[in-house]
Amino acid sequence: MYKVQSFVKDQWMGPSSVPTKIYDPVTGEQIACIGHDGLPSSSMLEFGRDVGGSALREMGFHERAKMIKALAVYLGEHKETLYNISYHTGATKPDSMIDIDGGIATMLVFASKGRRELPDGQIYIDGSVEELSRDGTFKGIHIATPLLGVAVHINAFNFPVWGMLEKLAPTWLAGVPAIVKPASQTAYLAEAVVRLIDQSGIVPRGAIQMIACPSGDLLDHLIAQDLVSFTGSEETGSLLKSHPNILKNAVRFISEQDSLNATVLGPDIHPDDPDFLIFIKEITHEMTSKSGQKCTAIRRILVPQENVQYVIQALRVKLSEIAIGDPREEQTDMGSLVSLAQFEDVLNKVNIIAQDADVVIGKIPKGVPLKGAFFAPILFNCKDPDLASNVHSVEAFGPVATIMGYRDLDHAIFLLNKGGGSLVASVVTKSGDVAREVSYRCSPWHGRLYFNNFESAKSSTGHGSPLPHMIHGGPGRAGGGEEMGGIRGVMQYMQRTAIQGHPSLLSAISGKHVSGASREVAPAHPFTRSFNALNIGEMIKTPKREITLSDIDHFAKFTGDTFYAHMDEVAAKANPFFLGRVAHGYLLLSFAAGLFVEPNPGPVLANTGLDNLVFLKPVSAGDQIYVTLTVIEKTRRTNEYGEIRWSVEIDNQNDERVAQYELLTMCTY
Ligand code: NAP
Repeated sequence: MYKVQSFVKDQWMGPSSVPTKIYDPVTGEQIACIGHDGLPSSSMLEFGRDVGGSALREMGFHERAKMIKALAVYLGEHKETLYNISYHTGATKPDSMIDIDGGIATMLVFASKGRRELPDGQIYIDGSVEELSRDGTFKGIHIATPLLGVAVHINAFNFPVWGMLEKLAPTWLAGVPAIVKPASQTAYLAEAVVRLIDQSGIVPRGAIQMIACPSGDLLDHLIAQDLVSFTGSEETGSLLKSHPNILKNAVRFISEQDSLNATVLGPDIHPDDPDFLIFIKEITHEMTSKSGQKCTAIRRILVPQENVQYVIQALRVKLSEIAIGDPREEQTDMGSLVSLAQFEDVLNKVNIIAQDADVVIGKIPKGVPLKGAFFAPILFNCKDPDLASNVHSVEAFGPVATIMGYRDLDHAIFLLNKGGGSLVASVVTKSGDVAREVSYRCSPWHGRLYFNNFESAKSSTGHGSPLPHMIHGGPGRAGGGEEMGGIRGVMQYMQRTAIQGHPSLLSAISGKHVSGASREVAPAHPFTRSFNALNIGEMIKTPKREITLSDIDHFAKFTGDTFYAHMDEVAAKANPFFLGRVAHGYLLLSFAAGLFVEPNPGPVLANTGLDNLVFLKPVSAGDQIYVTLTVIEKTRRTNEYGEIRWSVEIDNQNDERVAQYELLTMCTY
């Protein structure tokens, strides 16, 4: 019998003398015990802030991203150990893969996004520079910096690994340490992961601590720089977010709660369409995967009235094929609920739903078994979903769903929104009109809308799969929180601050050249200087080059771009933008490159892109152009080369800006 330990200030601490017993839901044998009389909450928070926070903040985004990737790879090498432990939660191997592989994959996505979308430094610039003065000497930017506190992650029992890793990745990427409080029932699996993290030596001391017991007085000691990210039931979420200290100190509180997620069979889909099968397959999967213990699982099935019986028939066939049993057996499709207590909870909720709806597939169990928390799927049919309330508000956290008929799309939208706020709603439709109408009228009540049909089915990721790229969370009873969503999720752990001042100061703060900041003439052509030698704000001005009519003619013939504005004086004049024939914008770009490049082999390896191009003023034959090339940002990319972002400003003989853009090149160190 395993004694689940807490990880406190870099030390493992065993359970106290009167721990809570944890039983395997399949075999009934006691597998673990958990609990402490009390942990030093206040000093754990201080340790996190001082030791873990300081170490993480010393690093930059890219270093932290590399750390997260290395850890994900390390955990990936130990997956088998975790799968074996995970069977004790009643989960099958595919269920465990959602939890374990899903958590690792989420870390990898955050690591990769961190390298690609965050700067190679410590300060994130949110949005563009705001022009606050006429003469350009006073501007504004928004920066994001890591909170100076600890993120307290209170997690639900159903995803002990994914639920922890999907929060740790953005937290660490932001530069914030965490104290994780897993749900007691499955804390032994979360503990196994924290042990691996500890053994790996990849994350700095204090970046993670774990509480394997009730959180005690932890919330009493939170300060405004700390944050709580809660996942669990609406009941617990409401209790915790109204904690007096959380309210008093305005402690950020992200809440991911339960949700009466719905799926809709579009009015345009008929039972003999291939899309119909997609609908049936998705419901079957959502009802049975993890035995329905998924916050995103489908609880309400909305179907055109005339198709309700077809859907019930199809689901009856599909659900009858599901083999329920010991999750360790290969032929098992669906394991057990996580515990007998969970069985009792689902049974109670099912009996409440039964007040509104009839069972059409499965049977309501008579009571809680002595052993084996196996709960066979139950499908209800609610005949009057307008009047019924339980089917829209009671979450039976198991393989339970209710089908209800709708009259038309308006009615479907009304029912979809009746859940009071959900994490996800899905619609199987081929109709752009249906998708648009649902998106516009249902989005305010749902965190994610998932459209699927025959064309997208092969690549679609599943109604119930939150993805690290997309936001996860939902309004109303779903908690009003938002997690993941790529870099949006990282921002939850950072403070956004408005910074105003001279562009030179803004450049120094952001590590990126802000237009109007002082610039220095490069000591040699910048293309001859390596990544490390180049300084932000170093620049060259090129000599002038005159544009002739024969240049324009030649360019037109050479490229085939004989658009009238370049070729026909009369037609060009009739155009409100031009006074006569003008040079091609692409000619300007090509001539600009001809003016600023240094042709010989050197540190610059390749041009990889061009951003924010604008043509500001037409250029006619006889005009002269010159280029100002400035280093505006440097980002390390690989061990051999980094990316230089250059500002390219093209001006005419009157020093008027005719075009500008940002050029990206790869450059050796
Ligand atoms: P829960 O009973 O609300 O518990 C959630 C977490 O809160 C657990 O770690 C629990 O610890 C802790 N907790 C409970 N009372 C507490 C208190 N007074 N102070 C501090 N912590 C406290 O939920 P659950 O049964 O674990 O999870 C199932 C629910 O989570 C379902 O309703 C499901 O919909 C929801 N869920 C939502 C999401 C989402 O992303 N929105 C994801 C997964 C699950 P103990 O276990 O030690 O009591």
